[in-house]
Amino acid sequence: MCGREGVGPRPFYFPLCVSVPPWWILTFDENAKPRHILPQLCILVPVRARLSGERFDVAIIGGGINGVAIARECARAGKRTLLVEQNDFASGTTSRSTRIIHGGLRYLEHGELGLVRESLKERERMLADYPHLVRPLRFVLAIPKASRHNALAIRTGLLLYRKLAGARCLPALAQFDAHLDRPDLATFDYDDAQCEFPERLVAEWLGEAIAAGAVVRNHCTALGLTKNDGRVTGLVIHDTLTGTEARVEAAHVINATGPWADMVCAQSGVETKEKLLGGIRGSHIVLPRFPGAPGSAVYSEAPDGRPVFLIPWNDQLLVGTTEVPDSADPARAEPSPEEVGYLLDSVNHLYPAANIGAGDILYAFAGVRPLPYSPTAKPAAITRRHRIHDHSDDGARGLYSVIGGKLTTAAALAREVARKLGAHVPEPQTALIAPAPADGIEVTLRQWARQISAVAHIPEHSARAVAEWHGRRAMCVARMAGTDDALRHPLCPHSSHIVAEAVEVARYECAVTLGDILLRRVPVALSGCWSKQCTRAAAQRIGWALGWDQLRIGREAELFDAERAAFLKKPSGLSRPQRAA
Ligand SMILES: Cc1cc2nc3c(=O)[nH]c(=O)nc-3n(C[C@H](O)[C@H](O)[C@H](O)COP(=O)(O)OP(=O)(O)OC[C@H]3O[C@@H](n4cnc5c(N)ncnc54)[C@H](O)[C@@H]3O)c2cc1C
Repeated sequence: MCGREGVGPRPFYFPLCVSVPPWWILTFDENAKPRHILPQLCILVPVRARLSGERFDVAIIGGGINGVAIARECARAGKRTLLVEQNDFASGTTSRSTRIIHGGLRYLEHGELGLVRESLKERERMLADYPHLVRPLRFVLAIPKASRHNALAIRTGLLLYRKLAGARCLPALAQFDAHLDRPDLATFDYDDAQCEFPERLVAEWLGEAIAAGAVVRNHCTALGLTKNDGRVTGLVIHDTLTGTEARVEAAHVINATGPWADMVCAQSGVETKEKLLGGIRGSHIVLPRFPGAPGSAVYSEAPDGRPVFLIPWNDQLLVGTTEVPDSADPARAEPSPEEVGYLLDSVNHLYPAANIGAGDILYAFAGVRPLPYSPTAKPAAITRRHRIHDHSDDGARGLYSVIGGKLTTAAALAREVARKLGAHVPEPQTALIAPAPADGIEVTLRQWARQISAVAHIPEHSARAVAEWHGRRAMCVARMAGTDDALRHPLCPHSSHIVAEAVEVARYECAVTLGDILLRRVPVALSGCWSKQCTRAAAQRIGWALGWDQLRIGREAELFDAERAAFLKKPSGLSRPQRAA
């Protein structure tokens, strides 16, 4: 039995849930009227227990990939762990990246051999441990012959990169992209990896953190730290869903707020000698797959010589990125018209026949890289290596801030943090032997999808979609889907993903709002074709399954549309061609 937790500024409440053995569940609305009696379904959405007065060994602020990885590592090491996230897990920089799991070929140019070696090792681990989410990706490196990078230097760099990466290699490309076979371009190829949905990777790590005993809360802002005699003693937290405030005690606090790290220090009265971070905004545009669009990923140079990526992603084309200093609130980061014009220019420079215009852009989005403060360095030259800042000398013993890092190295960073807190964390033993070849993964996925299809009574394309996003847990989704036709419905008419997935993530991955579900845990709304009609359809179907009443369904849909529109911008008022300033 679980109870309603309180009433907040948002009309949000958890329904009372009573399980009626053996397979029935009754949910009640706010006036205690029964709403649902769902045979065979057990829709138990966990209620957030009160935190006030709780004591933790470690409290982590920020639920991006780094914070979640740290929570998982600390909880596994037996530490009583709390993770708080002001919005939703992976809603910050993590979901605004290029989504490449890479060794950082480019870092070789800056002599960061150690970083490249570590990144490549982590890449191999991710490929082995999360093969449904992290997949090998072949890149075509298309460099203008007039570039400052000469062919010999590039060949030497690629040789070194392959040597550092070890044995794994994708099958050689039968033919380079014919559109890039031009006299003004020199083309090479190399392997890296892609995590199309880091939001899903974070969700899996979150599940692993919870399984290891971590207490995790999204929609909870750390308002500030409590301190005593130069040492942090805990946190003050505001739950934005319930409007309640809680004080918790913590022996250590990790500030893993990415580009927000300086703000958290300032709010807590922790003064550092200099700023920790120099935020550098990076923007992307998402295009439909135009005729002649590249089939593999392309790494090239923009007209100004900066690197540009064109990556097949989510049945669309992801193009990025820019580097613009940005010290404003990272939550409000958005692409400027100049950045959008610059990216369009870069695409048209490589694929002139496509003649892509601003009207073709499905959406654009931006994120702020949490790079170390380096006022005089060029953004491209600032190291992507993470750093852990110990605030003992800033009058806050027990507080550590995470600076920088990449999706690729988040797990390594987490091990480092846990060791700093005295945990014994051995290097993982997985992988570092050549993982299964890409076609082997394909066969496994196909077989898995067939089993899921049979259990869930859904078509194989839908089962495949479930398998790719939920990995081992896909069978739990399948079993649930198998119990009720409504749980097998697609989330929206254009999607292969089904309502049972939404229920699964509300139960086990802390998804609370429609935005948590549709933008991050089951991120179907990242499709360029998503419309308000899709929102309405998905809200009704998910609302039914989770026992939301019509008021809540309507409100969730409204908030969702606003959140999506603030994140994924449809550029307007652009005249082509434009270049970034
Ligand atoms: C344009 C761009 C492209 C990139 N491409 C790649 C790539 O291809 N590959 C790669 O490996 N890396 C890439 N990166 C880097 C990578 O995305 C980031 O290093 C990584 O996501 C940082 O994760 P994080 O957890 O530190 O920060 P975030 O993901 O930003 O998480 C910090 C979280 O803290 C929360 N928070 C802030 N203040 C508070 C508070 N007071 N209380 C509670 N919570 C709070 C925020 O809401 C946020 O969710 C890219 C970055 C950018 C910007």
